Amino acid sequence: MDFCPKDVIEMTTDRLNAKGITFAECVHPEQCIGCMACTLMCPDAAVELFKQED
Ligand code: SF4
Repeated sequence: MDFCPKDVIEMTTDRLNAKGITFAECVHPEQCIGCMACTLMCPDAAVELFKQED
């Protein structure tokens, strides 16, 4: 989230995951430029990037 140049990713504020903590989610996918910073910088390697065909 901190490394995304387009602010595509945000932490949830109203939902928790199964462990009871907030989580990052893709909230503005239309702004993604495919730079892959999120996939490279995520400390848990939890991000996968896919190109969506129209
Ligand atoms: S690839 Fe990841 S870091 Fe880059 S713009 Fe898209 S969501 Fe943000």
